[in-house]
Amino acid sequence: MENLLNRKLRLGIAACQFGAKVRYNGKGIDLTQYLGRDRGQFIWTPVCPEVMSGMGVPRPSIKLSGGNGFDFWKNEANVKNKEGQNKNEMIKKGALACLETLERANIDAYIFMEGSPSCGVYRTSLKNQRLGNPPGVFGALLLEKNIFLISSIDLQSPVRWWDWKRRLVAFVWIKEQNINSKEILKEIWDKVKYVLYELHEEEAKVIRDKIRELLKSSEEPDAEFYETIKLEILNLLRKPAELENIKRCLWANYVNLKNKENIEVEEIYEPHVLRNMTHIAQELLGIEIEVRKKNLLFRSSPINYKPDR
Ligand code: SF4
Repeated sequence: MENLLNRKLRLGIAACQFGAKVRYNGKGIDLTQYLGRDRGQFIWTPVCPEVMSGMGVPRPSIKLSGGNGFDFWKNEANVKNKEGQNKNEMIKKGALACLETLERANIDAYIFMEGSPSCGVYRTSLKNQRLGNPPGVFGALLLEKNIFLISSIDLQSPVRWWDWKRRLVAFVWIKEQNINSKEILKEIWDKVKYVLYELHEEEAKVIRDKIRELLKSSEEPDAEFYETIKLEILNLLRKPAELENIKRCLWANYVNLKNKENIEVEEIYEPHVLRNMTHIAQELLGIEIEVRKKNLLFRSSPINYKPDR
C-alpha cells in the first residue's frame, strides 16, 4: 500500500473568500492567493448561500435570532434582514442549493468563512469577541454532513495551511482505504500514527491500545469494528495541531531523518528558537521535499500528495 494520493482533491469554498464580490456590502477577497502554487493542486467549487437565496448584491445584512443554525432547520430560529424582513424561506433555498452543488461536485473538504450568520461554523458574528449564534444556517448543514471543514482565515498562515493540507491528504487517503483485515489496519496505523500523536497524543494512544489489543487477539473482528476505528482516526485528523507540537515534532523528526537517512536541510531550528511562521513553513516544506526525493516517510506528513489529474 503506497502512501501516495495522486488524484486532485476537490475543495468547496465560500465564494467571497475566492475573490467573488458577493458579500452583503459588495466586497470579497481572494484568500487562495496566499496558497501560491498550491492553488493549482485543487479543483475549486465556490458557493454563496446568500446569493443563491436570491437576495442579491448589495443587500441588507442578515441576522440569526432565537437560536443557532441547527435551531433554524427545526423552525425554532429565524433569519431577518436589517430592515426586519423575514428571510427564512429564501436562505433555506440558497443553503440547500449550495449543499446540492457541493455534493454534485463531490468535494473532499469545504473552506468556510467564519463570522457569518449563513456560513459561520464556530461564530456567526464578526463583532469584537462576540460569537453570535454558531453555527450559521449553512454552517449547520456542513456540520451535519460531517464535511472536513477548514477556516478560510488559515489560508493566510503558511504553517496553518501546511497543517490543514497534510491532515486533509491523510484524511482522504485513509477514507479511501478498504480496511478489512488486521494486516491492512496495522499498515495504515504504522504510516499515520506519528501525525496522530502529534495532533492529540492522549486520544491517539487510546486508538493505539485498541489496535494492540486486536493484534494480540486471535479473533477476527467484524466490519463494524474496522469502520469504528477508521472513523476515530479520521476524526482526529480533523483537529488542527498546536504550533508548539508542530515545532517540537519538526525538530524530532528531522534529527531522526538526519541520523538514520542522512537527510540534510539548511536552517532547521530547535523548537525554542524564535522564528516567524513563514520560516517554520519553509523548514517543513524543505524536509518534505528531501524526504519525498528519497521515497522515505516524513512522520509529520506521511501521505505524499502528487495530483496528476
Ligand atoms: S453567505 Fe457565505 S459565501 Fe456568501 S458572502 Fe456571506 S460568508 Fe461569503
